[in-house]
Amino acid sequence: MATEASYDAVVVGAGFAGMYMLHRLRRVGLSARVFETGDGVGGTWYWNRYPGARVDVPSLSYSYSFSDDLQQDWCWPETYSSQEELEKYANHVADRFDLRPDIQLGTTVVGADYDEAANRWTVRTDRDDLVTARFLITAAGCLSATNVPDFPGLESFGGTWYHTSRWPKEPVDLSGLRVGVIGTGSTGIQAVPVIAEQAAHLYVFQRTPNYSLPTGNRPMDPEVEREWKARYDEHRDLDRNSYAARHVPLPAHAALDLDRDERDRIFEEAWYEGAFAMMQAFKDLRTSREANETAAEFVRRKIRATVKDPEVAELLCPKDYPIGTKRLCLDSHYYETFNRDNVTLVDVRTHPIEEITPSGLRTSAAEYQLDVIVFATGFDAMTGPLLRMNITGRGGLTLGEKWEYGPRTYLGLSIAGFPNLFTITGPGSPSVLASMITCIEQHVDLIADTIVHLDQAGLETIEATTEAEDAWVAHVNEVADATLYKYANSWYLGSNIPGKPRVFMPYTGGFNVYTARCNEVVANDYEGFALA
Ligand code: FAD
Ligand code: NAP
Repeated sequence: MATEASYDAVVVGAGFAGMYMLHRLRRVGLSARVFETGDGVGGTWYWNRYPGARVDVPSLSYSYSFSDDLQQDWCWPETYSSQEELEKYANHVADRFDLRPDIQLGTTVVGADYDEAANRWTVRTDRDDLVTARFLITAAGCLSATNVPDFPGLESFGGTWYHTSRWPKEPVDLSGLRVGVIGTGSTGIQAVPVIAEQAAHLYVFQRTPNYSLPTGNRPMDPEVEREWKARYDEHRDLDRNSYAARHVPLPAHAALDLDRDERDRIFEEAWYEGAFAMMQAFKDLRTSREANETAAEFVRRKIRATVKDPEVAELLCPKDYPIGTKRLCLDSHYYETFNRDNVTLVDVRTHPIEEITPSGLRTSAAEYQLDVIVFATGFDAMTGPLLRMNITGRGGLTLGEKWEYGPRTYLGLSIAGFPNLFTITGPGSPSVLASMITCIEQHVDLIADTIVHLDQAGLETIEATTEAEDAWVAHVNEVADATLYKYANSWYLGSNIPGKPRVFMPYTGGFNVYTARCNEVVANDYEGFALA
């Protein structure tokens, strides 16, 4: 039902960011309305129901820390939770903190304009709500705007197609069907082994091979859970003070200091430990190209040893970018899947997909008959959800105009020309390079504290200065340039979306460094912001 109302804040999105933002706003006595496109809460974990969806950060760490009762009460059955378990957790949080009355589901924000005379945002939705608010807070996610490539002929396809992040709630039965999966990022790599078990035949259309490591998932060890819960504060502090918001001790030794046998022995142990342990096996894998190559080559040898057909194995081996410079993937028997008789790997780098046909898909080399096409083709990451919202700031400047050549923010949180707009985990913050719930909590706490500060000081507005924004953008680029990330074409750079400006979007300087900088900004009386 359409409403006309006014609030202290409008929050866009009811994933982990939007839900915690609402909770914090209420705790400081502010009124808020949350709009969410989905019919349920949980964001990523509401939408991504594709077979095999699972987190890649241990759940004891990838969970809210703001309530000790919550973290003590909640029991994760597995070390790396499935989508179902994370969605259940999100719903539990919504009920436990009575968030639902202020969340309007099934509603997309389609426009937000800043009214300079009134110092308020006017927000419009696809259900004709027209509401005003002093603050506009985007919790729209970094990976929520789906990317379905513009292949000619999709509308003519006679079968069924799905994007992995819009997978239906009802069970999808793929048994006896010819299925094509397009995309071999983290999502495709998780989905392929599960789909292969059902489909009559599975074609995997690969443009770029990815490095994938075995997931470390196992049933939760009650001893580990007890230990974490007894020392939860210490674990959280370690995470908050770490580079990726997830504490993993780095060894003192460098890969190149050891001979190959000794190095391989250490890689082998880490490989069986699972998750990202391999990338932490030596201190220099993320900084030295030569050291990184020893890890990359170790993974290639694993692929060659696993996949029986040497040509298929070679095609699966990433060779033209360092390991860890695109998001690393975790899998359950991905490479083994290519030994099945009902699975075919198709190289669409050499022979690109030209069109979707009524009965399947045609590459420049061959035609494939398909009943189902699964687009595991990722997202218009980070900027996508913000630009799709049609935000207009001072002087009628749209966010699209402001970001024509790529995103510009101060701390990934605030944009010059867009007063009282906060972007949780926006471009220019560590976000997707770190464990995200920890990043979300840091941003939400900072935003809530800032609003309290404004109120206590009798101030109306806060906005990044252009100088601070320019300096931050320059800093984000400078630190990214000093890393190995520049050697990969990835969605971090926007290179998965045709026409998107190539700008490295997340902050690579480290979550701990970033947090220290935010604390310094606040201590220096909100340095870099104009308060009025
Ligand atoms: P989201 O969960 O994306 O929620 C944003 C919400 O905003 C969405 O529900 C969307 O519908 C809504 N929205 C957007 N625009 C509008 C609009 N205009 N109007 C109304 N609603 C809108 N991170 C990790 O740290 N570790 C992981 O292992 C991990 N695994 C992931 C696996 C997958 C498959 C994906 C896609 C992402 C993963 N991530 C992971 C990143 C994940 O997105 C974050 O960890 C976290 O869930 C983000 O929460 P959020 O609330 O910021 O955004
Ligand atoms: P992604 O990493 O962007 O992968 C998309 C895949 O689709 C890539 O293989 C890409 O190839 C391919 N593709 C895109 N357009 C194509 C085209 N026109 N033709 C052929 N192939 C095309 O997306 P994702 O796998 O959904 O993952 C996105 C992010 O979500 C991850 O990086 C991660 O941060 C998060 N995630 C995490 C997990 C987890 O384990 N917890 C699981 C899923 C997702 P190119 O590489 O050549 O562009």
